[in-house]
Amino acid sequence: MAYVINDDCIACGACMEECPVEAIIAGDDKYTIDADKCIDCGACAGACPVDAPVEG
Ligand code: SF4
Ligand code: SF4
Repeated sequence: MAYVINDDCIACGACMEECPVEAIIAGDDKYTIDADKCIDCGACAGACPVDAPVEG
């Protein structure tokens, strides 16, 4: 399993700095998570101001 970023994402970038395995990919409108890299730690969810990363 991996976390996924839902459509609430405002592309602020806060989650990227928290991910220990660099699984988060920047985007213009929305960030995404590489499911092959994500280790399901939840750090991105803790850093997100809008609770966009959710367990997939
Ligand atoms: Fe990175 Fe952890 Fe979020 Fe997966 S759950 S994208 S490993 S911070
Ligand atoms: Fe999107 Fe939340 Fe990550 Fe900001 S911290 S880029 S709103 S998922």
